[in-house]
Amino acid sequence: MKHKIYCKVCRVSFIYHGELEKGQVVICTVCGAELEISAVEPEVEAVRLSTDPETEIRKRSENFARLHGYTFNEDKELVLDGLVGKNKLYGDFYCPCRFENISENVCPCLETRMNEVRKTGHCY
Ligand SMILES: [Zn+2]
Repeated sequence: MKHKIYCKVCRVSFIYHGELEKGQVVICTVCGAELEISAVEPEVEAVRLSTDPETEIRKRSENFARLHGYTFNEDKELVLDGLVGKNKLYGDFYCPCRFENISENVCPCLETRMNEVRKTGHCY
């Protein structure tokens, strides 16, 4: 069974293969966010899995890295702290390395989702 799931985190739809049921947790293949299925009929609906911010961004970045075969550098904890700090201040996980708190800079940022790491060897 093939389902199209819209990710409210990265605002992109992805295809999920397999059975889906309400309450199930799936991982967005685009951004790595954990999503909870809130409805299956008439359309599949998924919401951000509610958890504490640190767990959420840690899981999201680890899922994203695993899905793409990326590894973290020695700044991992520093960057995660920065992301949690920005979430506290500005309400979302904006990249701590970037000045502008815009949706394109929510981690993983648009450039990173568009394969920046493959091109340059690292995220911004
Ligand atoms: Zn996503």
